[in-house]
Amino acid sequence: MNVTSASEASLLREDDRAALLEWFAERVAFDGPLAAYTSWKIGGPADALVCAQSEEEIARVMRLCLRRKLPWFVLGSGSNLLIGDGGIRGIVLRLGGAFAQIEAHVDGGRVVLEAGASANMAQVTARGASAGALGIEGLVGIPGTVGGSLRMNAGTDREFGEFVQEVWVQSPSRPAPHSVDIRYFYRHTTLPRDAIVSRVRLAFEHGDPAQVREAMQAKLVRRKQTQPIALPNAGSCFRNPPGEKAARLIEAVGAKGWSEGAAQVSTLHANFINNLGGATACDVATLLARVRRAVCERFGVELQLEVHLVGAFVAGEAERSA
Ligand SMILES: Cc1cc2nc3c(=O)[nH]c(=O)nc-3n(C[C@H](O)[C@H](O)[C@H](O)COP(=O)(O)OP(=O)(O)OC[C@H]3O[C@@H](n4cnc5c(N)ncnc54)[C@H](O)[C@@H]3O)c2cc1C
Repeated sequence: MNVTSASEASLLREDDRAALLEWFAERVAFDGPLAAYTSWKIGGPADALVCAQSEEEIARVMRLCLRRKLPWFVLGSGSNLLIGDGGIRGIVLRLGGAFAQIEAHVDGGRVVLEAGASANMAQVTARGASAGALGIEGLVGIPGTVGGSLRMNAGTDREFGEFVQEVWVQSPSRPAPHSVDIRYFYRHTTLPRDAIVSRVRLAFEHGDPAQVREAMQAKLVRRKQTQPIALPNAGSCFRNPPGEKAARLIEAVGAKGWSEGAAQVSTLHANFINNLGGATACDVATLLARVRRAVCERFGVELQLEVHLVGAFVAGEAERSA
């Protein structure tokens, strides 16, 4: 995590801004808040927020970052992120246009999905189910993009990485799209930190579409009953410790309903923190630290964050949650 002063000035020079404006026109915004781009509805300003619509546009930004030594960050749908109230210095990239495309076909008895990194998982799972992609029901209800879900190895009883056949990435040192081998672990992967996923090929066993849809529906119903999906949150905040459920430990210390400012531990699912309206990153970080401390004192278990903390946190707040 990057801990800096909330008032730190933009890292962009006038010529950087001019270049970004020339390349991206209305698809670049300067110094605007990122709250609207996260499921928590929290996040300070980005020096520049750019929407790249092609691999060549990603490469352009990567080359600029390399040449100017500018930091950058890639945003998916922001459903696993706590962005500091001080925002993010450098360039924040979102992917749009052709990166949202999904194609499905059957090849040698397998359902193959080719998806751009900004395709959303609701559409990916729906397309996969229609094609009879067995196992894709294990990815239903995850409100992320393909790129974010690969980075996180998102999942439930099945994980994204189980289905990955090939991944194409770009980075400042190698801006042209190239494929990489990645290993997948519980909610993290060996995807290099400086790699932007641009597209992914997934493969599934071919089954009966009606059967996949039915399994998917059952999972969605269960999710609605057990998770506060209508409120702004980022899903589970902490990873499950080996052989244990983080939610059980958090509930056992009586943390359901605890609040800091407008952030509250969900009364429905103890591992979720809801923004009740106007919560700051500081509120959430303080609550995360309080929950973690209580679980550690009672059970001796150090909960690990599943949500990624990024950007500039006001002094004190980040140290408490780290
Ligand atoms: C209501 C709710 C329920 C959820 N349920 C689940 C669940 O059941 N299982 C689960 O695993 N998660 C769950 N999540 C968490 C979240 O949806 C997943 O982690 C999701 O995969 C994140 O995708 P994203 O596009 O939102 O990524 P973001 O939150 O935008 O980013 C997450 C990380 O991925 C990186 N990233 C994003 N795009 C790219 C890219 N193109 N290339 C490289 N890196 C990239 C970001 O830099 C960041 O480090 C839930 C969240 C919510 C709000």
